[in-house]
Amino acid sequence: MKPPYLITKEEILKFYKPVNPLTHKGLQGHAVIIAGSYGKIGAAVLASKSCIKSGCGLVTALIPKCGYQILQISIPEVMVVTDENANFITQINLPLIPKAIGIGPGIGKELGTQKAVFEFLRINKAPLVLDADVLNILAENQSWLELVPEKTILTPHPKELERLIGKWDSEAQKFQKAIAFSEQYKIIIVMKGAPTFIINQTAVCQNTTGNAALATAGSGDVLTGIITSLLSQSYEPLHAAQLGVFIHGLTADIALPKTGYQSFIASDIIKNLGKAFL
Ligand code: AMP
Ligand code: MG
Repeated sequence: MKPPYLITKEEILKFYKPVNPLTHKGLQGHAVIIAGSYGKIGAAVLASKSCIKSGCGLVTALIPKCGYQILQISIPEVMVVTDENANFITQINLPLIPKAIGIGPGIGKELGTQKAVFEFLRINKAPLVLDADVLNILAENQSWLELVPEKTILTPHPKELERLIGKWDSEAQKFQKAIAFSEQYKIIIVMKGAPTFIINQTAVCQNTTGNAALATAGSGDVLTGIITSLLSQSYEPLHAAQLGVFIHGLTADIALPKTGYQSFIASDIIKNLGKAFL
């Protein structure tokens, strides 16, 4: 393995795209977030909110019916499409062709949801971010990974990674396996942790922002929203992943002096997105 290169501010500024003063929302990217199930609508709220707060022009959330009012009241800026099922997603019929789709936070593993994921992967053409339960579903149905488009971004935490690539005996073997997996499916793996590494086939890079305050519920859901937003703004998938993890970590570095490690929650990531982008 080549030594990892560092994702620093200098590296980010090589591809960062300032917002064009003449842009309008239709040019800023329309992102779709597919997330949530009964008791986990918060995951859909966090991912959708971080998505709209990371620069895209429009966000549509696809959620089960039980989350409709919660989402509309929590984030009036986000449009909502509901599944016919009250408690979990059973069909992924989008009323639009989005620039990017983030799918997985809080969706659960109900059989109906698994079938919906399979049908979706069969017909989808949009660039994807795959997270959380969609990774667990793919881990149990590995042949479906053949349906995932090249350069799809997967954002597993260590347990989700283990389910996908199997157990490892050493750090070196973990990287070996992750690189082989990334090469096999031509996908980008955001290997979340302290620190986060991004595996793009044989190229590995390491994030330089973030701290232990990020070890809190919903932190990963927010990251999915940020990366999906960047992908919808026509960033190359690798750049969307790099800028996403860098900004996500930076919010925690900015907030830490005020919140300390203990009282930092995922909403604090969203609250500090503005400062991080500035
Ligand atoms: P998830 O487990 O899906 O909620 O994702 C957790 C997020 O928080 C990932 O982006 C991790 O990289 C980040 N994170 C968790 N623990 C730490 C830590 N100790 N230091 C830095 N980042 C962390
Ligand atoms: Mg997660």
